[in-house]
Amino acid sequence: MGQQRTDVCIIGCGPAGLILSQLLKLAGIDSIILERQSRTYVQGRIRAGVLEEGAAQTMIDIGMGERLKKHRMLHDGVVISLDGQRHRIDLKKHSGGRQISVYGQHDSVRDMIAFRLAAGDPIIFEAADVVLNEVKGDTPTATYQKDGETHQVTCRYIAGCDGFHGVSRKTIPDDEITEYHRAFPFAWLGIMAEVAPSSDELIYARHSRGFALHSMRSQTLSRLYLQVPLDTNVDDWSDEQIWDELDIRLGADENWQLNRGKIIQKDLAPLRSFVVEPMQYGNLFLAGDAAHIVPPTGAKGMNLAIADVRALASGLDKKINHNDPSGLEEYSAICLRRIWNAQRFSWWMTSMLHQHTDQDEYQQRIQFSDLEHLLSSDSYKNVFAENYTGLPFEV
Ligand SMILES: Cc1cc2nc3c(=O)[nH]c(=O)nc-3n(C[C@H](O)[C@H](O)[C@H](O)COP(=O)(O)OP(=O)(O)OC[C@H]3O[C@@H](n4cnc5c(N)ncnc54)[C@H](O)[C@@H]3O)c2cc1C
Repeated sequence: MGQQRTDVCIIGCGPAGLILSQLLKLAGIDSIILERQSRTYVQGRIRAGVLEEGAAQTMIDIGMGERLKKHRMLHDGVVISLDGQRHRIDLKKHSGGRQISVYGQHDSVRDMIAFRLAAGDPIIFEAADVVLNEVKGDTPTATYQKDGETHQVTCRYIAGCDGFHGVSRKTIPDDEITEYHRAFPFAWLGIMAEVAPSSDELIYARHSRGFALHSMRSQTLSRLYLQVPLDTNVDDWSDEQIWDELDIRLGADENWQLNRGKIIQKDLAPLRSFVVEPMQYGNLFLAGDAAHIVPPTGAKGMNLAIADVRALASGLDKKINHNDPSGLEEYSAICLRRIWNAQRFSWWMTSMLHQHTDQDEYQQRIQFSDLEHLLSSDSYKNVFAENYTGLPFEV
């Protein structure tokens, strides 16, 4: 059996795992990343695109954000469309000067992998059948299969950064954690199209036919979404039907046209919320989607993952370098305060902007009144903007 040794074994090479590895490196702590998929697969996975100011700055500060700094689109506001009527919320004005960065998660992941590998630090791709052992002891291990051989990493701590379907959370006995779930009764049909964005800012559209979102990943790539029933088969939607429906819900008219282009990806994402408490078990710590999921409406998933690993890296630094356990003891509580706030914000945005099949006339009026209040009240806009651009980090 191949043997390796490190301080922290990180499971998963997504944003959480990669940023944690670099934060640890800057604190002089060694880590190995084990990733189930190939490098090509991980770098090609199209997902988030909106970074809070603090999340983007974290990537820049740790040296992994050179391309982000150069190629990101900085946005000062977002647009809310109500049945075709546009209203802009000035995020910068209402958050005390903060902006959001639009830069594809797949680009960030590609940049960070290149950065780590160029520094000679290990990422083991295609590490199959990862099993975590002795996570309550002083020397936990992670075993995996690669090239027909069994390998074992012995470490002091394990960081479970392996997403919602990973092995880390499943290693924790059921009676040691509590899981909170909420599934929304609709999904998003998402497309990535090779066409310049049709708007300088994101457009969140509430429409009687369902929600739509106009987003982007670069000057030449647009990302758009439609609210659809959960049992939708994406192949039942032709490209033309998708563009026509986006036109209607986003309010295309003689003054504003939606640019159409080649659709290079179509996907269906169910919307759900999930939190596990606590986020630690012995020397195993969960971070990112392994511990929580939010519906993408509030653009919080990747941002929460970054906030988690900042807190985890700080706790590990205190313990490993200064023999102070307080950061690790507090890890779960620190993260969960931000997570529940993001859960609330994402739930609110999702509830406010979507059509709900079980919604009666009364609830529709309440929803509309909530949106009208948001669009007419500076204090409500302040609350929206400070949440959307990201609250300050606790650590
Ligand atoms: C359609 C969509 C749109 C989104 N939009 C936004 C947005 O605008 N803004 C935002 O902030 N967030 C958004 N998100 C959420 C965001 O993409 C996630 O929250 C983010 O990827 C979480 O990062 P992570 O590192 O925790 O997990 P992941 O990115 O899921 O990474 C986990 C890694 O672990 C690996 N892994 C899994 N199991 C194992 C195993 N057993 N062994 C080894 N490795 C394993 C996986 O292959 C993966 O590489 C969106 C998500 C979706 C699906």
